[in-house]
Amino acid sequence: MGETTFRQGVCAYCGNIGEVTDDHIVPRCLWPGRVRKDVPIVDACRPCNHIWKSEYDTYLRDILVNDMACAKNHIAQKVREKYYRAAKNNRSIMARDLNERAGLVGLQEDSGLVSGFALTLPDAVKRNQVIMPLIVRGLHLYYLRTALPKDTSFKVGRVIEREKMQELIREMNENGGGYQNIGTGDVFQFAFWPRPGDPYPQVWVLNFYRCIRFVVAIRASILWETNSSLIYYNTLISKSGI
Ligand SMILES: [Zn+2]
Repeated sequence: MGETTFRQGVCAYCGNIGEVTDDHIVPRCLWPGRVRKDVPIVDACRPCNHIWKSEYDTYLRDILVNDMACAKNHIAQKVREKYYRAAKNNRSIMARDLNERAGLVGLQEDSGLVSGFALTLPDAVKRNQVIMPLIVRGLHLYYLRTALPKDTSFKVGRVIEREKMQELIREMNENGGGYQNIGTGDVFQFAFWPRPGDPYPQVWVLNFYRCIRFVVAIRASILWETNSSLIYYNTLISKSGI
């Protein structure tokens, strides 16, 4: 840590004006070694950055690296060592939640048969409803140069079925969106596109470790400039050659 140089600015997450510091939109702890240099950084106030977002960042790491979808992903499994260390020293809030409140669910095959059991954690679902919108707020500000209005509402969902993902990729292609990698994209990549005429007119896909995908649809009472944003975004995509 140590780089707490404060300056005056607007917090990317809560919109408050005051002393701000650098915050990595995609949590640094998701990388096994040093964080990639191209992880976008925004201004965040002290409570957002150092108090509650850092707690959510770690929680997100622990959710992701323990997810069955990442069981064979070597990067996620390397990061999982951080979780083990934290859990052993009783510093992982997720590990504590898991002990106290996890439930067992049957894993259903396409045939309808239950092939195994997994733990689910209601706390993790609630946490995702907070952290995913924060990441989208940060990305929106960084890449589209506009802050989402304070009253923006977010619909967060996890994409599990392959068919659903294919449907989304089709929709993305039709609406001029595209994937943008941070680093090689092995830890994080994202896409966004407009959904014209939908009550939630903009969609973001956040892809962690190329195996866990969240869809975040957004709307706000004030209409922000979706179209000009998209033009800017397309320039960005073509520049990075994706
Ligand atoms: Zn803030």
